[in-house]
Amino acid sequence: MEKKVRVRYAPSPTGPQHIGGIRTALYNYLFAKKHGGELLLRIEDTDQTRFVEGAERYILDSVKWCGFQFDEGVNIGGSYGPYRQSERKHIYKEFVQQLLDQGHAYYAFDSAEELNEIRKTLEQQKKSFKYDAQTRLSLKNSLSLPAAEVEDLLAKGESYTVRLAVPADSNIVVDDLVRGKVTINTREIDDKVIFKSDGLPTYHLANVVDDYLMKISHVIRGEEWLPSAPFHVLLYQFLGWKDEMPAFAHLPLLLKPNGNGKLSKRDGDAMGFPVFPLEWTDPKTGDKSSGYREAGYLPEAFLNILAFLGWNPGTEQELFSLEELVEAFSLNRVVKSGAKFDPDKAKWFNQQYLLNKSGDQLAKILCNEDKSLEKIQNLERVCELMKERVQFPSEIIEKGGYFFNNPSIFDEKTVKKKWKEQSPAVVEALVAVFESQDEFERHRLESSFKQYVEAQQVPFGLAMISLRLCLTGQGGGPDLFETMEVLGRGPAIDRLNNNPARIEALKAKA
Ligand code: GLU
Repeated sequence: MEKKVRVRYAPSPTGPQHIGGIRTALYNYLFAKKHGGELLLRIEDTDQTRFVEGAERYILDSVKWCGFQFDEGVNIGGSYGPYRQSERKHIYKEFVQQLLDQGHAYYAFDSAEELNEIRKTLEQQKKSFKYDAQTRLSLKNSLSLPAAEVEDLLAKGESYTVRLAVPADSNIVVDDLVRGKVTINTREIDDKVIFKSDGLPTYHLANVVDDYLMKISHVIRGEEWLPSAPFHVLLYQFLGWKDEMPAFAHLPLLLKPNGNGKLSKRDGDAMGFPVFPLEWTDPKTGDKSSGYREAGYLPEAFLNILAFLGWNPGTEQELFSLEELVEAFSLNRVVKSGAKFDPDKAKWFNQQYLLNKSGDQLAKILCNEDKSLEKIQNLERVCELMKERVQFPSEIIEKGGYFFNNPSIFDEKTVKKKWKEQSPAVVEALVAVFESQDEFERHRLESSFKQYVEAQQVPFGLAMISLRLCLTGQGGGPDLFETMEVLGRGPAIDRLNNNPARIEALKAKA
């Protein structure tokens, strides 16, 4: 029988997860749902020295904002808990003992200082140091020391680590669903520490034991974990779980926009775009890092941006809902090479989703961010009119400020080039035309305007731009007559009456 698909997102709470982390979570979700499986959230917090307050909450909040969920895990529950490794301490010891008893692991008593000394001496000779099959017998461990001494050290409570005895010179094959077969010789791996005398396992052991106990069928994670994979394969073999070993899929690295190197947590704000899903305030320093949510990205757009970071559907389609992504997703179409992050494309996605929103929906988004906007009349219509001209909801207010206030400035270039001698008279005459309309409605305004300019042989362009400058201060914008209707009779007529003088004054100065 096919194994039930069970995948996990297993972040370490060492800070806010960046866009690469949440992409891993999303791909796991898509894979799980595509195959009718389950996704769980496991928190890998065995390294207590790197624990950062709030990181776990951050992960939950960002996934929620993106609009997908875990089936099981921290904060949710499930039958394979606890899902925080720090709460699973009691589980790992037994497996460490098994590895020790079977000779696959050994106690090592070398202190960090001693190992550093050796490393330094070797470095001076331009050699590197590895704790492995070649060196282990010359170091301080249960393989090199007499049994009685080992017992003595353990009885005295000497601090130790347990290391995996990686066999000398053998090939380990990692069968990767993205990369194919990756063969690594054990010469490239050291005898990694799997357990420490403080009673906590290291990442490698805890990760493998938990994947096994939680019945994980596929390990889908970032490429930075590929070098650890052979070590994990060895652990599965040594623990007698070869047949239950999950399949591996290592996702491509995210690269900086110029393709030069990995996109790091520090890059975002330096390069002018967020690298975190949500804004993050460092609990120690108070430093803020910007987030997609706060930068005005719509969650649907963010999801699309993530999906395309290393995967493509093989068709021309670019916009996908979450359901469509589940349908289209496959690990076969995940690329091997690094995925360049393209901030312009990210904005483009946002714009597409913004265009698909109604004025009503956009007004709600804006009012959620700033309650004072609720007082604005016609906000929905302004949103509808402005959405084609912006990439972020907040730009509707920034760029469409003239809908709410008489323009405080007039675009100088337009004034200089397009405000002509006849402009004041044309505007004045048109005020009379518009005022005589009993309904201040776009079609009426437009047809009366057309009638007038035709009859009076006023250049159409000149009349339009003169009106627009008075009404909005700008040289371009949404449909002029609809703009007038949204402004309303009072404010529109006031601006047409009063602003020509202001523009004239500006022109005289220029
Ligand atoms: N705890 C690891 C991380 O922080 C998980 C790696 C894995 O998925 O195996 O990314």
